[in-house]
Amino acid sequence: MTASEVKTIVVLGSGPAAIPVVRQTMVNLVLKRDNLKIILVTPNSNFHWPIAMPRVVVPGLVADDKVMIPLAPTFADYPPSKFEFVLGKASSLDPASNTVAVELNAGGSREINYHTLVIATGARARDDMPWKGLTTAEETKQKLHALQEQIKNAKTIVIAGGGMTGAETAGELGFEYSQHGKKEIILVHTEALPLSAPATDSVRKSVKSELERLKVKLIPNSTVANATVQGGDTILELRAADGTTRSITAQAYLPATGIIPNTEFAPKTLLDSKSYIKQTNYLQAEGHKNIFVIGDAGSLETATAGHAEAQAKHLIKALPLYIDGSAVPVYEASDKPIFAVTLGRSRGTGQMGTFKLFSFLVWFMKGRYLGTDYAHLWAAGKKTMSTTFEK
Ligand SMILES: Cc1cc2nc3c(=O)[nH]c(=O)nc-3n(C[C@H](O)[C@H](O)[C@H](O)COP(=O)(O)OP(=O)(O)OC[C@H]3O[C@@H](n4cnc5c(N)ncnc54)[C@H](O)[C@@H]3O)c2cc1C
Repeated sequence: MTASEVKTIVVLGSGPAAIPVVRQTMVNLVLKRDNLKIILVTPNSNFHWPIAMPRVVVPGLVADDKVMIPLAPTFADYPPSKFEFVLGKASSLDPASNTVAVELNAGGSREINYHTLVIATGARARDDMPWKGLTTAEETKQKLHALQEQIKNAKTIVIAGGGMTGAETAGELGFEYSQHGKKEIILVHTEALPLSAPATDSVRKSVKSELERLKVKLIPNSTVANATVQGGDTILELRAADGTTRSITAQAYLPATGIIPNTEFAPKTLLDSKSYIKQTNYLQAEGHKNIFVIGDAGSLETATAGHAEAQAKHLIKALPLYIDGSAVPVYEASDKPIFAVTLGRSRGTGQMGTFKLFSFLVWFMKGRYLGTDYAHLWAAGKKTMSTTFEK
């Protein structure tokens, strides 16, 4: 078989969306054929597990290797003729020539030609926070350890952002510290209540009352307009919705104000107005049938692991059909809100459609372990939240 007869599937990213696709496509398709190969491109040598990060930032609670899991052992058994692991980030993409350029972690760059491309580059947290992986495994660990050290030594800890990450982090820190009067925990959030639509008022009120029970101080209708580090302190300038400002001083500051899609490498024509890659109902990039897009980087659904999982599972079934030239099935996108918010290590709330989830159920399904009991299996591509694959 000559190199030109080999069909190369290039996968960009190694998060919850990408890894099950790599493993399942490898064992069920690539290893069974003599003309297929996978090249995985990612700058992070670890599988990063965001779901547990609100607890991981609390020093001493969760070991690093439960949430930052080396990927190399997952691929150790794949023959080099069938699999290549490239540590680097996609820096540009030319769909006309089926080529992706990669900036290598080790320095230099490389051009990779693909037959089929899977974009699963996800999104990163604002302000270089390790809620998601930073570019490399080393950077992520360093940032996390620095935050844990700040939290350990702080008298006052401020979290900015009333979304799920901010609320869960306030809950974890409140559970560990403020409910026992050990440290002051403050959550600054932009609306009157934590979370935002489509969360119902009832769920949002539960978040507020649970955090207050943990003695977390909530500052509603406000944003952090400026953060200035002065020695061991961070001076935060808060701006309220009515335009008034005030300052508070913290020794640890954790912004949790949203995500930015990792799509800078893609041509502008592929992106929507918020820089997400425009996905068709077949999970293909608009206008490019040989480019599949899954997970947070895509425009079709909100950025949740649940959607990343559903899209990955769909692609695992669709890829073999596509490679063989058959029609690709339609993906049924969902706009029904489903989420669970952990509020400390014993309680939580959440929503399914408009139905509010019981605190005990959220603790039992999510808050007990925050997925750290199965993240290593997800990192191996063998399991997702709802599915255990046969191999
Ligand atoms: C703190 C927190 C808690 C969360 N809790 C929940 C929850 O309880 N339930 C839920 O459903 N969802 C939750 N989410 C959302 C969930 O984590 C994401 O939806 C999920 O991680 C998306 O997976 P992904 O693989 O698409 O992207 P990501 O996890 O962002 O992974 C992207 C991958 O692409 C790599 N990459 C980035 N740029 C490039 C590039 N240029 N080239 C190659 N590779 C690149 C990255 O290194 C990474 O490996 C949470 C998110 C956060 C931040």
